[in-house]
Amino acid sequence: MSDDVAERDRVKRDVGHDAHDAHDAMTPHVSGGSREAPLDVKLDVTLDLTLDDAPCGYVAFADDGTLVAVNRTLCELLGYARDELVGRSIESIFPVGTRIFYQTHFFPLVRLHGHAEEVFLMLRGKDGADIGVMANAVRRERSGECITECVLMQVRERRKFEEALIRAKKEAEEARAAAELQRHHVEEANALLERQALELELQQQHLEDQAEELRTLNENLVERTDELERQRAIADQANHAKSEFLAVMSHELRTPLNAIGGYVQLLEMGIHGPVTPAQSEALAKVSRSQRHLLNLVNDVLNLARVEAGRVDYALEQVTIREVVDAVLPMVEPQLDAQHLRFDVRVAPGVAAHADRQKVEQILLNLISNAVKFTPPDGTVSVDAAEDESDASRVILRVTDTGIGIAPAQLAEIFEPFVQVDASHTRRAQGTGLGLTISRDLARGMGGDLTATSEPGKGSAFTLTLPRFAAT
Ligand code: ADP
Repeated sequence: MSDDVAERDRVKRDVGHDAHDAHDAMTPHVSGGSREAPLDVKLDVTLDLTLDDAPCGYVAFADDGTLVAVNRTLCELLGYARDELVGRSIESIFPVGTRIFYQTHFFPLVRLHGHAEEVFLMLRGKDGADIGVMANAVRRERSGECITECVLMQVRERRKFEEALIRAKKEAEEARAAAELQRHHVEEANALLERQALELELQQQHLEDQAEELRTLNENLVERTDELERQRAIADQANHAKSEFLAVMSHELRTPLNAIGGYVQLLEMGIHGPVTPAQSEALAKVSRSQRHLLNLVNDVLNLARVEAGRVDYALEQVTIREVVDAVLPMVEPQLDAQHLRFDVRVAPGVAAHADRQKVEQILLNLISNAVKFTPPDGTVSVDAAEDESDASRVILRVTDTGIGIAPAQLAEIFEPFVQVDASHTRRAQGTGLGLTISRDLARGMGGDLTATSEPGKGSAFTLTLPRFAAT
């Protein structure tokens, strides 16, 4: 027989003895009862009937773990017959985890303090299912041997509550996390709102700055407009003074110029003695220059008068045909000299409400220009008719097949002293004032003067005047 087996027999003997003692002590509960006793004859351990059927498990084991007594309640809980348990190690009803716990904590605790309360243990039933129990244990020495007795309360309810607690804790955790997330979102939304509020503030500030700038600009604009108005008034005054001055000066220049022309003619006629050919040639040049200067002075005088508003218009019925007939003799020599064809297409009875002399002056200027700027064998035409698009006007147009005017210069020819082709014009002896004066006069009579042209092909100058309406 091994030492272990000898030791176990000895424990069994002693426990059996103690159990007999206990049984003796408990005998009054079972004596005379209908239930069988003793319960564990093999190991000489008897259990009180009450303990056997108690509403909790009971187990007694030796220090080496050998089960020496198990009550019926525990047998039924685990699904074992009592015979299957008694004599086996208590560790055989533990799952692995509990076995370790038993060896490292539970039993050392019991051995140290002699008892342990409310220790949670997991038991393994015969069918392999785990059963949680709460254990209270006491280790007592009996006849030199130590026996540990445990009562085991199944903790199905407790587990349920624990699970509910865990669930509640989990739910609380989730709720807390959700709340945290919510808080985070609210914080983010707040931050966004703050940023937007800041941006709005900045934008408002920017708008206010712009409004302030606009106010300042507006004030400057008003100041500038006032200033320009003042300067325009000064310029108007100066222009008026200039025109006055030119009118007076031109008049003063014309008298001596006419005198020069007269004296040159007298010399050319030999009134003051014979003239040599060289002298005659020189006198011709003086005469040409005098005429040119006189023309210039006349034009300047006219322009000055028009600009100074010192021109009076004697408005009357002016038959265009009569005007053409009056001007024709003045230009015929030049037309013939240039070998130009002259076409007149004037509808009879076309009449303007205008100043006859001024209309003649304008027509003379237009035909002179056409002759000047049309090469030999070209054509100059004069047309007159009532305006088809506006019955209140008549149109007088002078067209030529001359050198024409470039589009860029067309708008400028009505400005004073503008001459497009200087070389040609010098040849043509102009002053650059004719069109300016003509347009001013046309406008002064309630009409206008415009031009169209194509370089190399010719030009057309159109004078519009109010139509004479017989009452
Ligand atoms: P000017 O005394 O030089 O003729 P105008 O005011 O009458 O002055 O004409 C201004 C300029 O317009 C001329 O110098 C010429 O260059 C241009 N011009 C006027 N009429 C014609 C035309 N029929 N054909 C071409 N160019 C013209």
